[in-house]
Amino acid sequence: MYITAHAVVGACTAVACRSLGMPNVVALAASLASHAVLDRVPHHDYKTWPAAIADLAAAAASVYVLAAATILPSIPLWYLGGMVGVLPDLEIVLKHWERVGYSRLRFPSHSGLISHPQIALVPGVSSQIVVVLAVVLLTMQMPVDML
Ligand SMILES: [Zn+2]
Repeated sequence: MYITAHAVVGACTAVACRSLGMPNVVALAASLASHAVLDRVPHHDYKTWPAAIADLAAAAASVYVLAAATILPSIPLWYLGGMVGVLPDLEIVLKHWERVGYSRLRFPSHSGLISHPQIALVPGVSSQIVVVLAVVLLTMQMPVDML
């Protein structure tokens, strides 16, 4: 999935887990796990650096808007959750950046251990929008005093 989808869902997952009383380490582990769950949803992935850079900027802006739009004491958790949600894709960057010599993908949804279905652009972007909006709307249903 796109970086924006992983960042937003990772952030929402961390905040939602924390609001349910889970410790930060569990909330961030859930953000990491959200990456594999999202990669399991049929989606489109781009293959160019300009698209990745634009996606990274959109991810940062999206998480910033989410954190700014909510009144909560754990604003850093939005950013940490977003970063942890994206973290596994760092190995994709390392693999494509050949000078680093990172040749084998290890995260389960990248290595093939968990399927990572790819579909065409329009349905593949649509599936990401639906999932992200559903997660954001669910997270926003949490009582503010719990967040
Ligand atoms: Zn990934």
